[in-house]
Amino acid sequence: MVSKQNINVALIGNPNVGKTSVFNQLTGLNQQVGNYPGITVEKKIGFCKLPNNIKANILDLPGTYSLNASSIDENVVIELLLNKNDKLYPDVALVVTDVENLKRNLLLFTQIKDLEIPTILVINMADRMKFKGITLDIPYLEEHLKTKIALISSRKGYGIDELKKLIVSYRTISSEPCLNASVIDPEYFNSLRKAFPNQLLYKLWLVITQDVNFLNLERNEVRSSFTKSHSDLKRLQQKETIKRYQFINDVLKVGLKIDSSVARDYRSKLDRVLTHKVWGYVIFFLILFVIFQSIFEWSKIPMDFIDASFASLSTHAAEELPAGVLTNLISQGIIPGIGGILIFIPQIAFLFMFISILEESGYMSRVVFLMDKIMRKFGLSGKSVVPLISGTACAIPAIMATRNIENWKERLITILVTPFTTCSARLPVYAIIIALVIPDNRVFGFLNMQGMTLMLLYLLGFGMAIFSAYILNKILKIKGKTYFVVEMPNYKLPLFKNVGINVIEKTKAFIFGAGKIILAISIVLWFLASYGPGEKFNNAEKIVIENTINNPLPETEFENAVASQKLENSYIGIMGKAIEPAISPLGYDWKIGIAIISSFAAREVFVGTLATIYSVGGSDNEVTIKNKMAAEINPVTGEKIFNFASGISLLLFYAFAMQCASTLAVTKKETNSWKWPAGQLIFMSGFAYVVALIAYQILK
Ligand code: GDP
Repeated sequence: MVSKQNINVALIGNPNVGKTSVFNQLTGLNQQVGNYPGITVEKKIGFCKLPNNIKANILDLPGTYSLNASSIDENVVIELLLNKNDKLYPDVALVVTDVENLKRNLLLFTQIKDLEIPTILVINMADRMKFKGITLDIPYLEEHLKTKIALISSRKGYGIDELKKLIVSYRTISSEPCLNASVIDPEYFNSLRKAFPNQLLYKLWLVITQDVNFLNLERNEVRSSFTKSHSDLKRLQQKETIKRYQFINDVLKVGLKIDSSVARDYRSKLDRVLTHKVWGYVIFFLILFVIFQSIFEWSKIPMDFIDASFASLSTHAAEELPAGVLTNLISQGIIPGIGGILIFIPQIAFLFMFISILEESGYMSRVVFLMDKIMRKFGLSGKSVVPLISGTACAIPAIMATRNIENWKERLITILVTPFTTCSARLPVYAIIIALVIPDNRVFGFLNMQGMTLMLLYLLGFGMAIFSAYILNKILKIKGKTYFVVEMPNYKLPLFKNVGINVIEKTKAFIFGAGKIILAISIVLWFLASYGPGEKFNNAEKIVIENTINNPLPETEFENAVASQKLENSYIGIMGKAIEPAISPLGYDWKIGIAIISSFAAREVFVGTLATIYSVGGSDNEVTIKNKMAAEINPVTGEKIFNFASGISLLLFYAFAMQCASTLAVTKKETNSWKWPAGQLIFMSGFAYVVALIAYQILK
């Protein structure tokens, strides 16, 4: 727990300097991940035991290049550092830097120093120094940067204990700025100082230049008397950056030596191949291919295991517990509901394992660089590639994978369009309907029509995702930074600890975020399918016996007939009938209506539900379901229910409709608002309805 007695430590640094690794080293698994209030930036707090029984709250702030905010991530950093009343306001700041990029990383350091917070300079990746021929004059740097330095390697764990000791003695660390802010424009800054003698000069400057919330200073007051034109401010900011770099250059000239004869350059050679106009894409698609093969292959066993365990748990509960409503709720609602959440874990875990490895190794930045130009035309970012492709497994981990897209608009668009890509849950639905309505013919002797249809459906999903991204980009009015920076980090062997922690964090976020909502919806659907008003539901057995009195059914068929009678008259059955007028123009009857409603929890439920309705036991008995479905006649028109027109209409409906409560739950979690999932539901399902309607009306 965050405690006032603990030392508050803020981890600050540019992206890719190893901040997360330092955080993991200090806190291990003692981490809490949440969101900053009102926005979607992740807030990570961890706890760390220091020498002498002292404890620290470690706050991992989002990676930022400077305090000149251009993204919500950077705003978070500035808001915290300006607000002394915040309960996480740091007693000591750790600015983490990469020894290979010290010059650029120190810009942020000098800005933090100007806020007069005791600051420790953490120089990370010390293990690379020998390899790159780098030597540092630590005492010289400490003196001129007015700080204490911890030279560490978070990969090897060097220097972490010294860093902990430094944190404990934070009171002895200078909080003096290392460069005088007023050199930026002496006249302007002197008048500022006179007007607000009790305020920190650099804070005033940030209040004037940044669009941040600020609690204990009247921003308007400062701004009204010291406003400058936009171009003047920009000019001053540039001057600030130049002055800072001059200072940093002077210090590093003495403090840092590089013997370039030592360094070997494999990096640029590798870069040339991996970002090549042709080979770059080939390699990327090969890697993707391997990843998806593995996700499907490796997930199958644990998924089947989870499925089977929960099925037997549910049977067990039904047998062992005293018969009654509570037992039914447990065995048919809660246990399958929890199973329905846990079944996603293998795919989520494997996907994030691969993503973390690609990120950790430095390869992901090359992919982003490669894809960015293409994706940007559609309002997406190079980083949208991973979620869009992951969507073919499941939209849930895919949407969670959008977190590293910094620009909020691009991230939101990616979240909104990802569910269009064909996920694995659509596959059973597609498979059975294609088998029913598409002839098993070959065109040109080798193209199988059914296979072609399946491929077209995949392409349709992907095309729709890209197309709607293009439209959303035009209509969403969200400002965001427009420039593109990809950091090209060095290639590195991934750190097992980082990968592991990332996988655990993502899985936890899914279970406790979206999981709750999925469970609630499963329980509601269970209730709707297990209860019904009136005689027809309550006396289902009697009715079936009476109807078949002359021709008694064998036991399983009898049970199926009762289940079918019950389902028809349950609340969900009544709902299916109620929506019949709305779906009959699409070519569906009320039975398909029930399947559509119940498959809202998860698409693959569609086949199982139809199996129950058509009184066939066991959803995996496909031949029987298929034959039953194929024989089903519409009593009004006298035609087959599953004909070419209604089949195509259903395929299109499932391709576009937002038939997945879990995805909505994840969208809610990731966007922090019900507005976006509601929009997804209305637009996707509305669009699906219209397309299915048009298709049926043309084809019938
Ligand atoms: P962040 O973006 O600042 O949070 O950085 P990460 O902690 O994700 O690390 C970026 C990359 O640097 C990853 O590939 C890490 O494995 C790697 N890394 C982190 N610390 C060290 C280190 O001390 N030495 C080396 N060689 N690599 C490191």
